[in-house]
Amino acid sequence: MSRANDRSNDPVGGERPRRPLRVAIAGGDLRAAAMLRLLAEVESIDVVALAEPRSGAAGAVAARELGIYTSEDIADLASVDDLDVILDLTDDPQLRARLIAYRPAAVEIVGSKGADLIRDLLMAKKRGEEQERLLAELEVAYEKMRGHENMLQAGTVALEQANEELERRLSEIFFTHEFFKALTSFTTVDDVTSLVVDGANGILGAEISCVYLLDTEHWELRYAAAQGRPADYFVEVVPVDTTILGRAYRDGVAVEADASRIPGSTGWSTESEDLASHAAVSLRSGERVVGVLAIGSHNARDFTPAEMERLQVIGNQSSLALQNALLHEELERLSVTDRLTELYNHGYFMQHLEEEIGRAQRFNHVMSLIMIDIDDFKSFNDTYGHPHGDRVLQSVSMTIVGMLREIDIAARYGGEEFVIVLPETDLEGALAVAERIRAGVERLSYEGFGIEEDVHKTISVGVAAFPTHAETGAALIVAADQAMYDAKRGGKNAVRWPA
Ligand code: GH3
Ligand code: MG
Ligand code: MG
Repeated sequence: MSRANDRSNDPVGGERPRRPLRVAIAGGDLRAAAMLRLLAEVESIDVVALAEPRSGAAGAVAARELGIYTSEDIADLASVDDLDVILDLTDDPQLRARLIAYRPAAVEIVGSKGADLIRDLLMAKKRGEEQERLLAELEVAYEKMRGHENMLQAGTVALEQANEELERRLSEIFFTHEFFKALTSFTTVDDVTSLVVDGANGILGAEISCVYLLDTEHWELRYAAAQGRPADYFVEVVPVDTTILGRAYRDGVAVEADASRIPGSTGWSTESEDLASHAAVSLRSGERVVGVLAIGSHNARDFTPAEMERLQVIGNQSSLALQNALLHEELERLSVTDRLTELYNHGYFMQHLEEEIGRAQRFNHVMSLIMIDIDDFKSFNDTYGHPHGDRVLQSVSMTIVGMLREIDIAARYGGEEFVIVLPETDLEGALAVAERIRAGVERLSYEGFGIEEDVHKTISVGVAAFPTHAETGAALIVAADQAMYDAKRGGKNAVRWPA
């Protein structure tokens, strides 16, 4: 009924598009920036405002780049016209209270958990759209097959040949379809790269295939996955300006039927003489190149245009999957990371501690916990200011991480408190680590950046071991905390453990 009404009001007679949902974002950290980019791709949503006290924060910068209204006062969101929803990404109860106090009655506020849900839905939608594109590509392939069918009628010999070709193409198409379908369901970079080389082998019949990913810290290509040769056949790290991988990185695609003609181009293989022909395409996330997919063979051979086209299609699909996985991993990393120190956050620590305790109980292993609190930090803040205090927190965090093994986990427990989980480490081992950290922190000087004196900070450290001092995670925390306060009472800058 209402549909008919709509039509009579609409001079064109088409369906009236719904007004886009008008959304504002409270908070402007990295998570908000990622959310902003995801939302910007959704047609039915307009992000119209973002409020963030720190105007230099990643989300605020991204919003300004997208031409979105930004404000440093959360309460300003209340005066945005026709707002439907505010996504609260602040994780700050005070800001939240202010938001609720000022919001007009019709505006919905979605908290952090809800925002996570929206993010998951968006990612799922994105995967759905990729599926649709895949089907469109398949249809083109079926069209071509129909062309072959016409040819079949031309004669028996041609018929048999075409039949074979048809069957080959059919199985290729099914493989391709399965491959693309699987690609879109993978959310880790490792899974995606292994599948990509699988696909290159299966679809292209490539003898050798490999994926290298861009290491943005050192700006070089790093081996990620391969098929057709053992891992030591592939050079671990390849510069972005040599070999065929470098060319594909720069030009998007590169092909060499006779690899020996171009000096250095086979430098991605430890057995270059084994490589007669190779081709590569770049893998992209939007405009950025994030890696390279290469195929190669022992026998010299041309790559047909059809083959190169397929390599390109695989590259494109792989790029989408890779982009998804990178985004997924980044969001996952952000959700467990403390923003100031880049250590794990409190939530992740609590979960990890329970897992480690469980493991230690099952396998009868020892483990230890270290609690750290910076001494007289309030007076440091009062004397030199909060930004310098933040610098201390970062330096202490880096010192802690530098003293740990791969399997140890360091987290920011609270304001100026840190906690470390040391699996398979007894009291004696943990005390040695704690003492190294204590001495390392004491050595750090904060002179510079506006501090004129040679200032040092110290820490008080408490250590407790499982199962000697406690048998649950909660009890282990209490034991280490009490030992830490023992160090405070004893004059600070010391390591203590339960008597
Ligand atoms: P004690 O030696 O007994 O530990 O004294 P303290 O001053 O370190 O302890 P107190 O708990 O009184 O003060 C902790 C201070 O840590 C107060 C707070 O301003 C500061 N702090 C907490 N989080 C941060 C932060 O993120 N940045 C900065 N700069 N300071 C912080
Ligand atoms: Mg404290
Ligand atoms: Mg303190």
